Amino acid sequence: MSPFPRPDYEPLRRYHFDRTPVALDVSDNTNQWGAHPAALEVARRADDNALARYPDLYADDLRAAAAAHLGVPEACIATGCGSDDILDCAYRACAGGPDDFVAAAVPTFPMGLQLARMNGMGARSVPWADALADPRRLLEGGPVLVYVCRPNNPTGHLAPAEWVDALLEAAGEDGPLVILDEAYIDFGGDSFATRAVGRTRTLVSRTMSKAFGLAGLRVGYAAGAPETILEVEKARGPYKVSRMACAAAAVALADAEGWVARTVSDCVACRERAHAALSERGLDPLPSLANFILFRAPSGDARADALGIRSHGVAVRPFVGEYPDGTDALRVTMAPWPLMERFLDALDTFRGNPGRGPNQALPG
Ligand SMILES: *Cc1c(COP(=O)(O)O)cnc(C)c1O
Repeated sequence: MSPFPRPDYEPLRRYHFDRTPVALDVSDNTNQWGAHPAALEVARRADDNALARYPDLYADDLRAAAAAHLGVPEACIATGCGSDDILDCAYRACAGGPDDFVAAAVPTFPMGLQLARMNGMGARSVPWADALADPRRLLEGGPVLVYVCRPNNPTGHLAPAEWVDALLEAAGEDGPLVILDEAYIDFGGDSFATRAVGRTRTLVSRTMSKAFGLAGLRVGYAAGAPETILEVEKARGPYKVSRMACAAAAVALADAEGWVARTVSDCVACRERAHAALSERGLDPLPSLANFILFRAPSGDARADALGIRSHGVAVRPFVGEYPDGTDALRVTMAPWPLMERFLDALDTFRGNPGRGPNQALPG
């Protein structure tokens, strides 16, 4: 019998979302302020070599820029094609066989558990409420890897630093690899990057896809102890990040205090206004430290609501049963305020009170 297709791949599906063009797409948490201008300039100035020659084996310039950005040694940085790739490599470095499993607090980023199955491991989810009450719940049964998204997607909450400390303490120095996914840390929260490099089983992953506006380039990186990074890079392989992506991401990282800081602060201001506007509409938005807000699906049916709002030109992401009380929710990505007004208009029109202009709902 041929082992192809893999029996354990039977339940897997391709990632799928409706990506047909729409006037405003605030469904995927990419940067609605655009791309980092210095990175865009690198892409515009690309020469022959940028495309014709191989990049560095392990993206040395990008490693250096990421190390400087985090204030850690270069040997403590791994890079990849987006943080999905970093996570994939870390999972592969841990995967020993079908008895191994990954534990994650849910709801969370779907790749956190999907990548376990893709790498031949089991997946165990622990409800966030249980995990927050006692981080040891994530260690039950002896996972080889624990995935924690902080701030969490899609809820936007930040597990407290003391909670992470307790988790790392309980996991121990020779326990599971604990991955802290900091995809949204630029929008709020305290990073564990410097602490991760001083521990043997902690990895912090970062992405250039959100605050830096480079989702199309596919660049991510991770911080950890040199011996942990080495294992991740063994699983990664050479020549992974393209020349242009390395160069563009490196200049963007070097300018984190400029464009990124300015657009993040505008994003945070929009988040406060959007939170107030959604509260006023009775939709119980969750407090968020990220660049998105999760709120109740108005009719209780997230898929129907997302389709309805889409029919008015705005795409948001439906989450079936993922509001903290188990009901349906919608997630909207923050955008410059005129675009948020466009979203609120579509939401109001869909809900059948088109007379209520978004400006009336705004505080200040
Ligand atoms: C968007 C996102 C990422 C980014 O993945 P890339 O592969 O770097 O684009 C990683 N983790 C979480 C939780 C995300 O929401």
